Amino acid sequence: MSFKQLAASQPAVAAVLQRSLANGRLAHAYLFAGDAMGDMELAARELAKAVNCESPTKQGACDRCDSCRKIDAATPPGGQHPDVQWIRPESKSRRIDIEQTRDLEKSLHLKPSLGRMKVGVIVEADRLGREAANSFLKTLEEPPDRSLLLLLSATPEQLLETVQSRCQRVQFGAAAAREPVAAHAPLADGLLALLGGGGSVLKAYKLFDSMRVFLDAEKKRVEEQVEQAAQLDRYRETADPKWLEKKEEEMEAQASAEYRRQRAAALTTLEWLLRDVLVCIEGGDAALLFHRDRGDALRKLAGSQTRERALANLEAIETLQEQLERNVNEALALEVALLRLSGLTVPAVVVT
Ligand SMILES: [Zn+2]
Repeated sequence: MSFKQLAASQPAVAAVLQRSLANGRLAHAYLFAGDAMGDMELAARELAKAVNCESPTKQGACDRCDSCRKIDAATPPGGQHPDVQWIRPESKSRRIDIEQTRDLEKSLHLKPSLGRMKVGVIVEADRLGREAANSFLKTLEEPPDRSLLLLLSATPEQLLETVQSRCQRVQFGAAAAREPVAAHAPLADGLLALLGGGGSVLKAYKLFDSMRVFLDAEKKRVEEQVEQAAQLDRYRETADPKWLEKKEEEMEAQASAEYRRQRAAALTTLEWLLRDVLVCIEGGDAALLFHRDRGDALRKLAGSQTRERALANLEAIETLQEQLERNVNEALALEVALLRLSGLTVPAVVVT
């Protein structure tokens, strides 16, 4: 009941969080990313309620018990529950300073007094000052028992890499504001074919080939682009070899970062397609779809797929994105993910 409002604007997020709750597999720390700050605060509140509710249902918190009502209370910001603490940037400096994170850490290490779990919410977590972020990192590395940390940010890339990597990322999105990239269309076609045809291993490998061709071309394009921009050839005869070497290393790093961005964008297009299937299964409005031009195919697919299957597919691609961020073998991770999408039971773990 409680996740209903969230499900209306962020169906995939609501589904993923509800499922983790139902399975008792919540992460210790989440990074809510996206520009829908209102939805992210709503999700944080619903999650805080769900883990502390006195009579939770399958759908989440009851919204009526003492705990739920205290968390919902409007003032102070984030509620009046002793176990749920919110911090946000101070109005003047627009920074979250170390006193605020220390306060939060202290509170997280106490036993829950009213509910079952201590919840810490950091709104605009990208505004954590360096000192505050570093001190907070220790809490993220060794989260206290029965604690849940929720970091909310519209610009998560500004967070320390080490902070990002210790949180499970949940992407929030405003589908209406974005458009599928034309260059990704063949990949989306391949994914639809894979899901629609009862998912065969052959189709998985067909999509695997298309992905490899696409990614190879992207790598080449990005490298050429970076090379052209640097115009190193001009200096090759005259410049100091050490300087040249350093420049070349920089170029390599730049190309690699850009390639990873492009790869993540292509996978996000596929992720949105899987999310769209879920939206259709949940009976969501056509306006909520990202791939609106594929509405008919998506609805047809939704008719033949269970919610569980759609969620498992979404999870397969999310796992792939996470693995690639951690630098696992690209081809292997891709192969495993596509086989999972074809319906095969393949362990998600990829060892490099
Ligand atoms: Zn309740």
